[in-house]
Amino acid sequence: MLSDTIAAVSTALGEGGIAIIRVSGPKAISEVAPLFRSTTPLTEVASHTVHYGHIINPVDGERMEEVLVTVMKGPRSFTTEDVVEISAHGGVISVRRVMDLLLQQDIRLAEPGEFTKRAFLGGRIDLSQAEAVIDLIRSKSDRAFSVALKQVSGSLSERIKSLRHTLIETLAHIEVNIDYPEHDVEEFTAEFIKAKSSEVMEGINKLLKTANEGKILREGITTAIVGRPNVGKSSLLNALARDNKAIVTDIPGTTRDVIEEYVTINNIPLKLLDTAGIRETMDVVEKIGVERSKAAFSDADLILLVLNANEELHEDELALMEQIHGRQALVIMNKMDLPPRLDKAKLLTFFDESSIVPMSVLEEEGLDKLEEAISELFFGGKLESGDLTYVSNVRHIALLKKAYKSLQDAYEAADMLVPIDMIQIDVRLAWEQLGEIIGDTAADSLLDQIFSQFCLGK
Ligand code: GDP
Ligand code: ZN
Repeated sequence: MLSDTIAAVSTALGEGGIAIIRVSGPKAISEVAPLFRSTTPLTEVASHTVHYGHIINPVDGERMEEVLVTVMKGPRSFTTEDVVEISAHGGVISVRRVMDLLLQQDIRLAEPGEFTKRAFLGGRIDLSQAEAVIDLIRSKSDRAFSVALKQVSGSLSERIKSLRHTLIETLAHIEVNIDYPEHDVEEFTAEFIKAKSSEVMEGINKLLKTANEGKILREGITTAIVGRPNVGKSSLLNALARDNKAIVTDIPGTTRDVIEEYVTINNIPLKLLDTAGIRETMDVVEKIGVERSKAAFSDADLILLVLNANEELHEDELALMEQIHGRQALVIMNKMDLPPRLDKAKLLTFFDESSIVPMSVLEEEGLDKLEEAISELFFGGKLESGDLTYVSNVRHIALLKKAYKSLQDAYEAADMLVPIDMIQIDVRLAWEQLGEIIGDTAADSLLDQIFSQFCLGK
């Protein structure tokens, strides 16, 4: 079915030190061989060996590029097919010269994600692992990276498989008893179905609980810093960024209205938004006519309201507090190095003591308390670094919910002693829905959709 051979540049384009061009398919070795001049012809080298040589133009023998070529014969390769990787000098021109020659052979340009798709179709990884590869490429923090890495290695798959195993056992049990429909057996089977669906529902719930954390770990907690002009919002953003510089900084950050900064606090990625941005006159949210700032405020998972402890509460600030009501928020009483003028009792009518953090950004006092408060807020201090199995993919979440619903139906039907073969349908459905997560029962169109999210060359 996958009889053609594909190629793409697998490293980021541009001025890298080296660029790797990956070729995969049954003709990978035989089609690259005529382009490669070295001491040993490529068709004769052992698998998993690296060779120095030149890419030549097969027409006139002209040397086009100095390269290292790695040969990995299937199934011991990423795609499970024969793979040839050509390491060329980075740079657009050198890469294009090699690609041009490859595409003149019986090799076509790979679609985005096609290498990973082949790895999946070759049975080397399952669907949730393939999706984790996408996450891995995109992960914005160290911890998100660990989560994705763990998923690549199959921890979510393991859990799903074990839940499905329970369902298969249940189905088998039902199958046996359908043939013996005496009344007492039926009742016994109904009890069995109830117990087993509860067990699996509980397992699904556990996974779903991690979903929100998973999303946060992947995308970062969107944190809006709000407050009147001059209270120290930008100073706070800078201080947090200085202490916790994000692992990945290549995300386009500054826009006209909102300044974004990615930081990691106690391993939790935060997307900090200084909503005042460049124009300080628009600090108070009500007065912000800029849609982006408004959106940043209303979409934020967490709000950091900065107040000046050296001043009395301003009516704008009271209005802000009203707006923040019911949201996850921390109040920062900044400028504690100056004489206190802020009426804390008034603050306490809006906020818990625990969500008020006294601080002096100038003297770097209280930053650690803020960092603690943030991690307390989101993980209740309960996030164990050992257990990183998180569901973070919207498709997985939707399927888990569907499977849960199917089992709930099965449970209720069993409770009402509905004929067993009717219940069987729901149990089977749950089994299929869980299977879709790992790609066991996934339709082809779904596969295409998933793999097209990859960048070229992955
Ligand atoms: P923003 O308008 O809310 O972004 O406020 P800025 O971060 O630009 O700070 C306004 C002024 O307050 C600057 O001169 C800061 O140096 C000063 N500032 C910030 N934090 C503190 C603090 O903790 N103590 C004192 N005394 N001044 C501060
Ligand atoms: Zn500012």
